[in-house]
Amino acid sequence: MTQIDDLPPLRDVIDRHGLSALKSLGQNFLLDLNLTARIARAAGSLTGRTVVEIGPGPGGLTRAILAAGAAKVHVVERDRRAIAALEEIAAYYPGRLHVTEGDALAVDTAALGDEPPVIMANLPYNIATPLLIGWLSPESWPPRWTAMVLMFQKEVADRITAQAGDDAYGRLGVLCGWRSHATQMFDISPKAFVPPPKVTSTVVHFTPRPEPLPCVQTDLEAVTAAAFGQRRKMLRQSLKALGVDPAALCAAAGVDPTARAETVPVKGFVDLANVWREMR
Ligand code: SAM
Repeated sequence: MTQIDDLPPLRDVIDRHGLSALKSLGQNFLLDLNLTARIARAAGSLTGRTVVEIGPGPGGLTRAILAAGAAKVHVVERDRRAIAALEEIAAYYPGRLHVTEGDALAVDTAALGDEPPVIMANLPYNIATPLLIGWLSPESWPPRWTAMVLMFQKEVADRITAQAGDDAYGRLGVLCGWRSHATQMFDISPKAFVPPPKVTSTVVHFTPRPEPLPCVQTDLEAVTAAAFGQRRKMLRQSLKALGVDPAALCAAAGVDPTARAETVPVKGFVDLANVWREMR
């Protein structure tokens, strides 16, 4: 195993700090520092960069990010037991690691640090999607973050990167496709985690689209909620939920009213959202 630093092995850190994995906090730890180095590399060069990491736990990915040359790393961790372990890493890399104890859902994580960050996380599955939606929905765009490297259950990663016509295509794919370029980098077997989760994970890389097609996000959300709420129905049926004539809406947006939501590309939903705004 390649050594990335002179800190103790993660198993020792976990034992010393009593970091037995808690299901309630979605804890599945990565102890292989070669693998965490590979995840850090998925962000491209981190030399001199600011990184925000959510849910560092005992710090396997944090150590890889620091060893990769990040100038500043801001971590937000909810588990009080992990804070002392993270402070040991901070002492090893003076002035470079800033540890916040808290709930990432209650912190403006993208605002941490002086420089626009790369956001990285092996996310607890129960908070992964709400955090992602928050990072894709700031009040002004482009967002503060420059890239994100996040791990999800493979099934969620498939929904994030799905294109029109894919089985996994839905509301999440439209939002992600509208605001970002999302690419699956590689899968991680359950065996790589302690304890192993039930499913395979996938590392996804995001870059923000500098200029997403103009559209009010709440309109896009309403249109996709109606369309995918009845995803097997034709749009002329499913879009009735929007309270306007669906045939006229589709005609004005240039979208086939006999199409089903799963075949409509992001641009079609943006056009529907913009026409709906004018019609209602
Ligand atoms: N990054 C570590 C790794 O790769 O080994 C730990 C990953 S573990 C899947 C998820 C981590 O997120 C845990 O350390 C857990 O305590 C933390 N966590 C869970 N909910 C959180 C929340 N709401 N805010 C911040 N951290 C949270």
